[in-house]
Amino acid sequence: MTNVHNILTKYWGYTSFKPMQEEVIASVLDGKDTVALLPTGGGKSLCFQVPALAMEGICIVVSPLVALMGDQINSLKERGIKALKLTGGISFDELNTLLDNALYGNYKFLYLSPERLQQEIVQNYIKQMNVNLIAVDEAHCISQWGNDFRPAYKNITVLREIHPLVPIIALTATATPEVLEDTISELRMELPVIFKNSFVRENLSYQVYKENDKLYRAEQLLKNNSGSAIVYVRNRKGTIEISDQLNSLGISATFYHGGISAKEKAQRLESWRSGRVSTMVATNAFGMGIDHPNVRFVIHLQIPESLESYFQEAGRAGRDGEYSSAVLLYNDSDKMQVIKQFVESLPTTSDLKKIYRILNNYFQIPYGEGEFTKHNFSFSEFCKTYSLNTLLAYNALNNLDRLGVIQLSQEFGRKSIVEFLVSSEEVLNYFEKDVTASVIGKTILRIYGGIFEMPTAINLDFIASKTGQTIETIISVLKKLERDGLVEMMLQITDATLTFLVPREDEKTINVISRDVEALNRKKTAQVNSVLQYIENKKTCRSVQLVSYFGETTASKCGICSVCKTSSSNLSSKEMKHLAKQILALLEGEDLNSREISEKLTFAETDVLKAIHLLMDAEKIKSNPKKQYYLN
Ligand code: ADP
Ligand code: MG
Repeated sequence: MTNVHNILTKYWGYTSFKPMQEEVIASVLDGKDTVALLPTGGGKSLCFQVPALAMEGICIVVSPLVALMGDQINSLKERGIKALKLTGGISFDELNTLLDNALYGNYKFLYLSPERLQQEIVQNYIKQMNVNLIAVDEAHCISQWGNDFRPAYKNITVLREIHPLVPIIALTATATPEVLEDTISELRMELPVIFKNSFVRENLSYQVYKENDKLYRAEQLLKNNSGSAIVYVRNRKGTIEISDQLNSLGISATFYHGGISAKEKAQRLESWRSGRVSTMVATNAFGMGIDHPNVRFVIHLQIPESLESYFQEAGRAGRDGEYSSAVLLYNDSDKMQVIKQFVESLPTTSDLKKIYRILNNYFQIPYGEGEFTKHNFSFSEFCKTYSLNTLLAYNALNNLDRLGVIQLSQEFGRKSIVEFLVSSEEVLNYFEKDVTASVIGKTILRIYGGIFEMPTAINLDFIASKTGQTIETIISVLKKLERDGLVEMMLQITDATLTFLVPREDEKTINVISRDVEALNRKKTAQVNSVLQYIENKKTCRSVQLVSYFGETTASKCGICSVCKTSSSNLSSKEMKHLAKQILALLEGEDLNSREISEKLTFAETDVLKAIHLLMDAEKIKSNPKKQYYLN
């Protein structure tokens, strides 16, 4: 293990491991399948990066988010470690070159999305590589019981088939026992060693308030904030509105959601990271893998759909170990809203039967047939044809996908986004010279009125039908416009492709899966209920409530959440001072954590914690990364 320490210091300049890292690394080096279940900010990346550097060969990292990969690659490159990534949007030629590099260029890390992994050429190259470790980051995405479930994650097992002897390490911060079990079995891990660290975050104050004027409350919290903040809202429109409102209140804010272009995302992220803008207003699309140290506030203006996602989002505060707040603001209509959005929109068995039947009719599948047939699928057109409730239909199709009746390609639910970068005059001038571009371009301008003002989602099928051109032609025109600097775009070839995986048997098909459907619905309902219970329970320490949801039953009261803070202390200010003095006296001898301090004193634990925080605020004491306190 000295080698491992050397690597840590040589490449990262760190002197010691964070809790559990060393144990995880040892297990990997021992060749064992390993699960690292560490909270957000727990240092999971090093758990596979360090052992991979200690071994010959290349580590394959499967990671769900492109932005996240970019960050990790950059950080590795800065440290002089050779790493590359395969994401969407690269041409076949580029792909070949990259894979050649990975194979022959002494690279240590190859990051790829699960979708990329499905390509045969990628698999063929990986076969030839000397793979030392397979790392699956944010591994809970593989579980259909989790919130971030991604169908393509199911096929990661192909790596196990290609390199059966190479250990797999799965990393996640989502710890519910069900998701964990599912993740392990889906990845076909063999007798994995599971490392789990406490999910208690001692510097994080969880607060929940019922508030009619949520924006006012947010303003009060944020106006003296010297660090960064994240404000989570439910939808895209909300991000823009709230960020405008905060700006007009003098709080510098920007916004982020899944629909803005990659370039804009990068710019907004950068202005927030650099501190030029203090507050990021975002949907839950913002976050996975965001590692920003001085986030002092994470404020939720709406009720999250599960405690899993709440814990992750809240956990982005205070990653530097300084005192930070995670504040959930809600009112009664929010409670109704979360039920409406996440419970009432759950498709029942009979909803599924209906959707499945019309889906078959839509593609004219005869009874008993259709198995393994593949179709281009425009979700919006489908809903329009049958006047379906889109949320319900969306959930129903996702369920059919999860339960193996159909398979939807990854693009499902997304669209191509186009943004014009130059003025309309310049565009029209350009069209003068190019007839095809002109036909297609002008049609786009006609259909999408506001496209000069903002990035706009376009439907390629629709443009094709309007112009009488093939989708390929439209794409090549758009690509040319992009090369010539007129537009920027994120391209999705069709809404989705849909493959039927079983022959059409109408009700019978659905009856087979009805138990799973109901289990899924129960699970989802229970998740929402857990959040509502968390909000309603004003008696139990917030931190205790959260970590016990994740199976940790031994945690003690945090002393700093909205429950602990308001539970009245019996101590007079004189007694408090006395207690504070005793703590200072204890710390003269040695550095101690809050438990140890509490054990040495006769005061109630909540009072001790309160005194510790008063001393912290007065800068009489400080804490080290081991959560021990010492005299300042
Ligand atoms: P996670 O993936 O668990 O959320 P990351 O791997 O992104 O966490 O790490 C969080 C932060 O902790 C990063 O800035 C990382 O550099 C830092 N970190 C990781 N290991 C150590 C260590 N041993 N000592 C100090 N900092 C560390
Ligand atoms: Mg991570």
